[in-house]
Amino acid sequence: MKDYKKIITDIIYPPVCPVCGDVIPIAKRKPWYEGKPCYSTFLCAPCKGNLRFLEGNVCEKCGAETSPGKTLCNVCEEVARCFAGGKSILAYDGVARQMMMAFKYSGKREYADFLTYAAAERAGSWIQSLHLDAIVPVPIHPEKRKARGYNQAELLAQGIATYTGVPMRDILKRNKETNASKELGLHSRVFNLRDAFSLKGPIPKGKRFLLVDDILTTGVTLESCAELLLYEGNADAVYVLSLCSGK
Ligand SMILES: [Zn+2]
Ligand SMILES: [Zn+2]
Repeated sequence: MKDYKKIITDIIYPPVCPVCGDVIPIAKRKPWYEGKPCYSTFLCAPCKGNLRFLEGNVCEKCGAETSPGKTLCNVCEEVARCFAGGKSILAYDGVARQMMMAFKYSGKREYADFLTYAAAERAGSWIQSLHLDAIVPVPIHPEKRKARGYNQAELLAQGIATYTGVPMRDILKRNKETNASKELGLHSRVFNLRDAFSLKGPIPKGKRFLLVDDILTTGVTLESCAELLLYEGNADAVYVLSLCSGK
């Protein structure tokens, strides 16, 4: 069945290759409209080769890239994580970095189409295996959301929810923008983010969540949100998914 809502959205936000910016020809978009997306519906073939998908040497806790032979990344070796596990889709370098900057800061909300497809294709079976109750986006401050027009993590969470059939629940809020100063040590950065987030309201106990964010660097943002769901929300387990990870 054709997705007419999608076709209309495409008139407003035509799908473009998130790497080179060329509009994807209508003939290539057809499989997507018919519910059979593939990489060529979102991305030029040469551009796909410019992205580095994470596989092999990845941290078993947060999903970020590790040094060969290591099971944990440098950060997870140093600090305890309260989330149960995580995955990350792309290395945050080269064109992936440009793509994420445009997605986040230049209004390229349509890039979410490719990003959520890549996440669902690479992590969909893992997501299904977690028996989740909901997918939860990392919130941004309301002022920032107003200025940007969207929360990039919410667009990602919504797309992944659509592909996997797990509902998206926007249950967290961001109370303040914190200065994620690189000079602060990791432990101080975790402390710095306490009170930055809160639950929008009470949530049922014993639920299983997947937190979604666009970029993971040290993971302190995801850690703070996971703490909140586990200790205030009495969640059973929290997992994390980031679209990109790296320094
Ligand atoms: Zn391209
Ligand atoms: Zn890690």
